[in-house]
Amino acid sequence: MRTAIIEGDGIGKEVIPEAVSILDYFNETYHWGVEKVPVEVGLGKWERTGSAITDEDITLLKSCDLILFGAITTVNDPSYKSVLLRIRKELDLYANIRPILPVPGVYKLLKIKDRKEADVNIVIVRENSEGLYSGIEEIGDEKSTTLRVVTKKASERIAAIASDLAAERKNSLTVVHKSNVLKSDKLFLDTCKQVAESKGVNVSDKLVDFFAYDLIMSPEKYDVVVTTNLFGDILSDLGAILLGSIGLAPSANIGDKQAFFEPVHGSAPDIAGKGIANPIAAILSLKMMFDRRGKKREAGLINRAVSAAIHDKIVTPDLSGKYSTKEVGAFILSKVRQYDAASFCLEDPDGLL
Ligand code: ATP
Repeated sequence: MRTAIIEGDGIGKEVIPEAVSILDYFNETYHWGVEKVPVEVGLGKWERTGSAITDEDITLLKSCDLILFGAITTVNDPSYKSVLLRIRKELDLYANIRPILPVPGVYKLLKIKDRKEADVNIVIVRENSEGLYSGIEEIGDEKSTTLRVVTKKASERIAAIASDLAAERKNSLTVVHKSNVLKSDKLFLDTCKQVAESKGVNVSDKLVDFFAYDLIMSPEKYDVVVTTNLFGDILSDLGAILLGSIGLAPSANIGDKQAFFEPVHGSAPDIAGKGIANPIAAILSLKMMFDRRGKKREAGLINRAVSAAIHDKIVTPDLSGKYSTKEVGAFILSKVRQYDAASFCLEDPDGLL
């Protein structure tokens, strides 16, 4: 199993090694045969070589089954093309899956009293290949346009993934759209409904503006949510409010051949190099990778170890703690080892993939 490791820029270089230590532990203990393939892309590479990602990098990534990714800094320079968009496009990673599931104990830690963790268990499934991120643009001084593309084919495949996920959970799918204004969304809405109904999934829909409000006010109403590219991007960052910190939000990008796992946060230049970035989003992204590979027990061990860090208050400053990235990572690894040796057999109850 070839697994590409992309640390990227900024705090990507700090949080990914903490996740990789846990991967190494399982790989060495259980002889999984994971072959790690380091791939350098991003701003650092662009500054050094003039290219943030090369054709060779893409070929290397295509030769891997799984990719663990940190973060990339994007600069506002016309010659700098988005690395993430290129990877998503070239590998056809069409489904972006973002769970909104608080780590047990985090509301108590952060003294959040106005909502309950038990009420928040949502997965946002974002169409990742078209919509407003089609890349079809005409930029001028007087007028600029970006083409919003919705196709039946892309809507069908994202609806199928979201419906299958819903069927494994509470069997409830919400399609989020703006078809009263954007007529292209009617095709997305109708296709999602057809696919969900054909799979026996209970399906409803919400306008995106109302949904943004309701997600925060009444998260208990939602199970799996499917939406278009830009709406999904914004809503899943909004949903991170329900997690307590963006440093706790993992995600996956799934295609038919490869799967790519990354923390939702970016490279956070404001705290990069200080050693205080929360590594939990990266570690939970590794957990999603384990879920994807059917390593349910190991995913469960990670969940439990992360909860122990929250419970014991071994956390970084974003969670009001005083510990460093490395200290939190080392604590979580020590708990993984301890629970593993104690033969805890805890299948991941919320295995998503
Ligand atoms: P980029 O341009 O790479 O997207 P950004 O700073 O615009 O970077 P984020 O990296 O998502 O966007 O950061 C948003 C805010 O959240 C910043 O204040 C950052 O310090 C904070 N943040 C992001 N990730 C973490 C983390 N893992 N731990 C602690 N704070 C974080």
